[in-house]
Amino acid sequence: MSDSFDATVDVVIIGAGVAGLWLALRLERAGRSVALLEAHAAGAGQTAASQGIIHGGTKYALTNRLTGASESIRAMPARWREALRGGGEIDLAGAPVLAPRQHLFSAEALAAKITTFFAARVMRDRVRSLPPERRPALLAHERFRGNVYEIDEVVLDVPALAALMARRLSAPALLVDGPSLRLDASGRERVSVHFGAGGAAAAIGASAIVCCAGRGNEALLARAGLEAALSQHRPLHMVMARGPIEHPLFAHCLGSGPRPRFTITSHEWDSPSHRVWYIGGEVAETGVERERVKQIAAARDEIASVLPWANLEGLEWDAFRIDRAERAQRGGARPNEPAILERGRLLFAWPTKLAFAPLLADRIIERLEAHLPAERAPGAPPPGWPAAPLAPPPWKEPRAWHTFDR
Ligand SMILES: Cc1cc2nc3c(=O)[nH]c(=O)nc-3n(C[C@H](O)[C@H](O)[C@H](O)COP(=O)(O)OP(=O)(O)OC[C@H]3O[C@@H](n4cnc5c(N)ncnc54)[C@H](O)[C@@H]3O)c2cc1C
Repeated sequence: MSDSFDATVDVVIIGAGVAGLWLALRLERAGRSVALLEAHAAGAGQTAASQGIIHGGTKYALTNRLTGASESIRAMPARWREALRGGGEIDLAGAPVLAPRQHLFSAEALAAKITTFFAARVMRDRVRSLPPERRPALLAHERFRGNVYEIDEVVLDVPALAALMARRLSAPALLVDGPSLRLDASGRERVSVHFGAGGAAAAIGASAIVCCAGRGNEALLARAGLEAALSQHRPLHMVMARGPIEHPLFAHCLGSGPRPRFTITSHEWDSPSHRVWYIGGEVAETGVERERVKQIAAARDEIASVLPWANLEGLEWDAFRIDRAERAQRGGARPNEPAILERGRLLFAWPTKLAFAPLLADRIIERLEAHLPAERAPGAPPPGWPAAPLAPPPWKEPRAWHTFDR
């Protein structure tokens, strides 16, 4: 194989979402050279759309699956906290924490209270029942009849986190034209990625290529001669409301089913009293068939039925569709763990959850050991190549907001 590359690095990573960024920072800390290629913006895709909850297993407790493999998620919050303190495997000191912990509350119905009680018992070492005086304002209302628990799961401002991670890399993620990417993984010692942007073309040689492109992994699998069906995606229809929201809320609302009826996180808008409520959970999963305004109405009705004292007047609403991208599972089931598909020096990776980025990086690095030479490849990005911009949160993208009151 010819060595006439524009650069030679240890590892090329495709996709600057949380998985690619975490891996790049880990490899750099281990003294390795990395080229990170991004087709849209650093932190785009699922990462920007994520609710930023660093899960420690609540979801599995709710579905009564807190066993075996899914136990691995329990270690994640501590690893993130260590990184956020600046003393972990990567340095995330300064990343904005939206809430140090979040809440789990039940709707009024008895069945919902029982589910919530059960979830809290399974997780009793990390969940505390809260008396009214310690509850968030909306759940301390005199008419609220459900139970409220506090969970040790931090909530992060993910677009700001991704921006910080991108800035901490020794070189910015390179902006590439996604469809132009060509993977050549046939070499015995060296593989290469060929790409273009704005009329320019470049090639980078490496000891390994890791595809962390989220939904984009499907196209990359196909381009590498593999079946796109090795990846699966599950659609969501997320809802957001912005305006004079007085009380922030970071909470899962449980009904009688195994998943939260809705999960709500709160984000700054343009002043401390103008916020965004970002709404996922069951309402986002079951709402994929609904058209936009019906989906907004469904989410609004959910909140109004459980928290009728929440003032929803004057809020502007929108909904958008996004897919979760995962390694394909039998029958399309949800995976409980991060996953990797390895074809020699070409790897495809899916964290499954933002929270799993540290564990995914461990597993990738373990596999890369077989491919990386003792000497670090010199690696410098092709000179003058454009850097990927930073992804905004979904509510800062251009939107046609919907109102119910005017
Ligand atoms: C609505 C929603 C809410 C979520 N909430 C949470 C949560 O609260 N907590 C949690 O733990 N998990 C959550 N998740 C899951 C979590 O967001 C994802 O598991 C995680 O962000 C996936 O990261 P990733 O880097 O693998 O992929 P992505 O974030 O999708 O990033 C892939 C990157 O690759 C780029 N790309 C795509 N194709 C190409 C190409 N050909 N060339 C170069 N670059 C390319 C994309 O532009 C993007 O930047 C949520 C997911 C969704 C969709």
